[in-house]
Amino acid sequence: MKKIALEEHFMAPGFMEYEAAVTGLLNPQMLEAVNKRLPEFSQQRLEMMDKAGIELSVLSQTSPGLQGEKDAKIGARKAIEANDFLYSEIAKNPKRYAGFAHLAMHEPETATAELNRCVKELGFVGAMINGQTNGVYLDDQKYIPFWEKAVELDVPIYIHPGNPFQVPYVFKDYPAMQGAFWGWGTETASHTIRLIMSGLFDRLPKLKIILGHMGEGLPFTLWRFDSRWPGSIHTKELKKLPSHYIKENIIITISGVFDAPPLLCSMAAIGVDNILFSTDYPYEDPIVAAEFIDNVKISEEDRAKICYKNAERILKIKRTAGV
Ligand code: MN
Repeated sequence: MKKIALEEHFMAPGFMEYEAAVTGLLNPQMLEAVNKRLPEFSQQRLEMMDKAGIELSVLSQTSPGLQGEKDAKIGARKAIEANDFLYSEIAKNPKRYAGFAHLAMHEPETATAELNRCVKELGFVGAMINGQTNGVYLDDQKYIPFWEKAVELDVPIYIHPGNPFQVPYVFKDYPAMQGAFWGWGTETASHTIRLIMSGLFDRLPKLKIILGHMGEGLPFTLWRFDSRWPGSIHTKELKKLPSHYIKENIIITISGVFDAPPLLCSMAAIGVDNILFSTDYPYEDPIVAAEFIDNVKISEEDRAKICYKNAERILKIKRTAGV
């Protein structure tokens, strides 16, 4: 079945320095292969897409990118450079590629302006943010105008894993617990819960957040969130129970989780209309992703929704419609 994929990473020129934050968490063989594939757009990436039946890849700067930059001014400049670079690569092959903006979140006004430019002038379909920036999470009140802009532009914001500000003490003795194995998932799920608890979705009920990796575990936990809400030390009233926001405001992709039980749980918990195909190239094999979604025992209508129909609707992509 044809597919649209939207956690598909590249490396912009000048962004290799940020990779050091994650290289220690990847195995060396994988890192070598990944570093060959990240900056490549015209051969192997397209061959893999063809083999996997991916008609369109929404490309994003690999983590952490500017979420690993200390300096706001450097971040602002390099975000523009990275987005212009991505625009030029998409322009070479616009039928196969679309883009998520890469944003420096140090200064909300700058990030908001760049999101606006990327959507209105470059035609990008949203943005991807790789977690916290210098210890600041996206529930911070200073980001309210940024989120309002995302709603105004009607684009989703993909929150992709990044490192926590500090390595949690519970990971001591086991550095492998950091990174994709476990830590990035809990960090990203916690980041999302911060957004819910801040009341952001009560303020902006139309805001759409995308999470990868089958929702970073959140679909599995809805009942417990609601049964234990409100927490005895909560500080903010919410209009609805936590599960409401996960069902209404969170969209998930299957990136890096090619397994039937969590997919079936997610379909039951948040609904098939909120689940999208993705691979996490080049960290995952698109063929494995494609074989999974092409063969998992779900209805053909549900398969079509996950593979491309939901993405066409949510990202307002017309190019593959009717193909
Ligand atoms: Mn990824």
